[in-house]
Amino acid sequence: MKTILLNANRLLPSNELEKVEVLIEDNKIIKIASQIPDKVENYIDIEGKLLLPGLIDVHIHLREPGGEHKETIKTGTMAAARGGYTTVCAMPNTNPVPDHPEALTSLLSKIADDAHIRVLPYASITKSLKGEERTDIQSLIDAGAFAFTDDGVGIQTADQMYQAMKDAARHNTTIVAHCEDNSLVYGGVLHEGEVSERLSLPGIPSLSESVQIARDVLLAEATGCHYHVCHVSTKESVRVIRDAKKAGIHVTAEVSPHHLLLNETDIPDDNADWKMNPPLRSTEDQQALFDGLMDGTIDLIATDHAPHATEEKAVGFKEAPFGIVGLETAFPLLYTHLVLKGKMTLYQLVERMTEKPAATFQLPYGKLEEDSVADITVIDLEKEETIHRETFYSKGKNTPFDNWKVKGIPVLTMVNGVVVYEEAKQHEEA
Ligand SMILES: [Zn+2]
Repeated sequence: MKTILLNANRLLPSNELEKVEVLIEDNKIIKIASQIPDKVENYIDIEGKLLLPGLIDVHIHLREPGGEHKETIKTGTMAAARGGYTTVCAMPNTNPVPDHPEALTSLLSKIADDAHIRVLPYASITKSLKGEERTDIQSLIDAGAFAFTDDGVGIQTADQMYQAMKDAARHNTTIVAHCEDNSLVYGGVLHEGEVSERLSLPGIPSLSESVQIARDVLLAEATGCHYHVCHVSTKESVRVIRDAKKAGIHVTAEVSPHHLLLNETDIPDDNADWKMNPPLRSTEDQQALFDGLMDGTIDLIATDHAPHATEEKAVGFKEAPFGIVGLETAFPLLYTHLVLKGKMTLYQLVERMTEKPAATFQLPYGKLEEDSVADITVIDLEKEETIHRETFYSKGKNTPFDNWKVKGIPVLTMVNGVVVYEEAKQHEEA
């Protein structure tokens, strides 16, 4: 089937908007031009809204299998579509863990049945994420693994990481790392600093993250492996990654919207909707993350969407699980608080949510051009909303951004040429 998108505003690197029409046939963008004379079956009037390549999130948790009370492939990908995402990469801390080909194959078939958008699943580096026995990288790649990570826990011994990276380099895949040295965590539940003191809660030192990144970049240098650092949170981590990049080591990194927009002083009280790992750090850390994102030390933005059931989060900082949701709020929050406040341009933001993640992982998405896959996100830059957690499609309502006013709302999402989310329609159905 052929579709033409009318009255679309495409974003140019100069940040100017260009009025275009887009011809889509099956799953491909065939033509982008100021006017397309073809007669087709289907027209979608974008009404002057912003047309972007579909957003890409390389770090989310879908919880299925094993954690369906928190989220399912269906609800998580509906949330992603509503947030303007067309491709997400799912972390392997599920039950079972995709640490052998059969588990991955069964996960991929659930994804094929239930997912509203494209889901690329990670496999784990070690069996059951225990950090003991390594998985068989080749058989997991053959079964469809996107890359390898034990996200949620750090790889504790240098030898374990060294062997994993050697293996990954041999098979030309990426080691994606949650960096956390358990011997430096001391039972912490939020950043070790003025707020942990004020609330009398055990703190997580910055060192627990940066020490492990420092170790890993040297291992990446020694092995030639592509090493990607998850959710960087400290200024020391940014410095280590910056130095490693300067030294020519193949390291890339991501930062989450909440670490860009919040710091420990925003934590109001003992409320676990503010509990995440890594934790919100100091104002200096927050500034260093933003600077790192702007100078290219940090390559991309990923949400670390981590849904939990409301009752699991209701028990306070000490007992509640780590993590907050992020898929439905990321773009509007970042647009409102970084672009509209003049801290970065719209193009810079979009690049870090589309082109950069695609380039980092060599994905054939993230660009709006002729011959590319028809993954499209339409944003209403003028539309203003208040975030209400109870309206989330995600089963997870755990967010510190409830009641925040935002602008720049995703209103239509198309994956492979098929509309998977359209705001007006969804509201009629609801
Ligand atoms: Zn995560």
